[in-house]
Amino acid sequence: MRDAFIPGVNIGLVGHVDHGKTTLVSALTGTWTDRHSEEIKRGISIRLGYADTTFYKCEGCTGTEGYSSQPECPKCGGKAVPFRTVSFVDAPGHETLMATMLSGSALMDGAMLVIAANEVCPQPQTKEHLMALELIGIKKIVIVQNKIDVVTQAEALEHYKQIKRFIKGTIAENAPIIPVSAQKGVNIGALIQTLDEVIPEPERNPEIDPLLLVARSFDVNKPGCSWRDVKGGVIGGSLIRGVLHEGDDIEIRPGRQVQIENRTKWEPIETKITSINAGKTGVTDASPGGLLGVATKLDPALTKSDALAGQVAGLVGKLPPVWERLKFDVTLMDRVVGADSEQIIEPLKHKEPLMLSVGTAVTVGVIVNTKKNQVEVQLKRAVCAEVGARIAISRQVGGRWRLIGMGILVE
Ligand code: GDP
Ligand code: MG
Repeated sequence: MRDAFIPGVNIGLVGHVDHGKTTLVSALTGTWTDRHSEEIKRGISIRLGYADTTFYKCEGCTGTEGYSSQPECPKCGGKAVPFRTVSFVDAPGHETLMATMLSGSALMDGAMLVIAANEVCPQPQTKEHLMALELIGIKKIVIVQNKIDVVTQAEALEHYKQIKRFIKGTIAENAPIIPVSAQKGVNIGALIQTLDEVIPEPERNPEIDPLLLVARSFDVNKPGCSWRDVKGGVIGGSLIRGVLHEGDDIEIRPGRQVQIENRTKWEPIETKITSINAGKTGVTDASPGGLLGVATKLDPALTKSDALAGQVAGLVGKLPPVWERLKFDVTLMDRVVGADSEQIIEPLKHKEPLMLSVGTAVTVGVIVNTKKNQVEVQLKRAVCAEVGARIAISRQVGGRWRLIGMGILVE
């Protein structure tokens, strides 16, 4: 049994802007994930937010009300027992931030699709995000019908029927639908119980080579600090498999771009792990689930401002290949979702620019070869990924990158 206070899964929050994802994270954890001043000013999530919470079950209460994220039962005030810790990944819902949403979904073991009850369902990003979950292959989904405090019971029921019609035939067809008010804290116990059932901790193999998808990277030093006190660069992300230990020698790929004569090349970065934080706790070894902050001996100039986001880290010599050209089998959707007019998706064309999301990496490139159902793309930024990896494909439609399908990386 692992520690009930160490996060074991990442649960994503996806859905249309303003439907209450960030408020729901706060209702579930007591943490507000919109931490950057720009985000607070504009009132939207721009980067991925992360927050951990421990689920508790009251010893005395039965039913959904005994579930909470407090050590004291909200119903009877009695003692509640911690049984599990999860990490929430709060994805931005704004249509211009799909790339961030897609890189976040690479880290999700399951997801909540948040749908506000006071708007007709589906809204554009409700559709686009469900499509993204489907393409990326996230099957463990809980639908949260939020803002039930501002609709009548009849309206909530009508909205429930709209949700049912919308999910019919999709990956979420049989997903439970939990009505809540994130703002007023209504029915959160039922949501916690459902999350626990639908998104259990997967079996993990600690023997397999570790693979950390880097979502953030930081320079944690205060400006002007003495060189004696300078701390090494920190990378933040999630392990999707294996175990990392304090003291491990690691490699980060594709690494750094170097100019050799008139050719650019990618050179892996090697370093040592000096310490690891899992959520707020310092640990000597870390497993999948939750955001890890991995402190290294790297020059912090290399890690500042998310410079290494989208790269992968693992043991030296044990990482997947780096690709400057990606070849993949393509499955396109029928229509563009997420925009007001749902245009038909035309086949991919030679020389067409694409945006590709592979793991947490987002890269653009140009199609240099097309065969039946297979294309090859010359990338601006190389990516590190294994054969068989899923690639989310976006193309420019009406001046915006729109998700149009998925690919499977081939050799
Ligand atoms: P996000 O864009 O999906 O992250 O949405 P936010 O969490 O930022 O919420 C958008 C707005 O809806 C904010 O003004 C919230 O206060 C409000 N909101 C969120 N949840 C509820 C709810 O359950 N009831 C009501 N009435 N308002 C809510
Ligand atoms: Mg938000």
